[in-house]
Amino acid sequence: MIRTNKPRFIPEMTPKAAARFAEKIDKTPGQGPDGECWIWTASKTHLGYGYFYLSGRQAAHRVSWEISNNAKIPAGMFVLHSCDNPSCVNPGHLRVGTPKENVEDKISRGRHERQKRTHCPRGHEFTEDNIRRRPDKPHQRECKICRRAYNSVYRKGASYPSAIPAGDLA
Ligand SMILES: [Zn+2]
Ligand SMILES: [Zn+2]
Repeated sequence: MIRTNKPRFIPEMTPKAAARFAEKIDKTPGQGPDGECWIWTASKTHLGYGYFYLSGRQAAHRVSWEISNNAKIPAGMFVLHSCDNPSCVNPGHLRVGTPKENVEDKISRGRHERQKRTHCPRGHEFTEDNIRRRPDKPHQRECKICRRAYNSVYRKGASYPSAIPAGDLA
């Protein structure tokens, strides 16, 4: 077999290891957006992804996908969450995706998170009167108070984007 990508090798899952894996999952109903997330209860990364030791540290959701599909994840591929819940290991919420799909998933999740914000990063409320939307980026909300502040600085010669951080585009 010729491997063109660096292999992401997860060793054979023995029944004993599978039992150890299953012990770390909380399947209590009501978790996650559809109430069916299975939450990893052992160690997690700072982003909330579970991990599991099986000849080295493995991402728990990837191990879960391999157990339920009885297959290796193809080299270079990602396992994505349909529930946007990093600590979920429910195989029904996991699918294999390309690196490009992984990036698109992250972008849409970030956009979703921003839409939930009620204030700009400087604390001005996102009332309909205080929101400006650019025609080319209709999903981005810009704070008008900050925009006015930026414009007044800009006229004095400050360069974009130092005058106003990109984080102010919520
Ligand atoms: Zn889930
Ligand atoms: Zn603002």
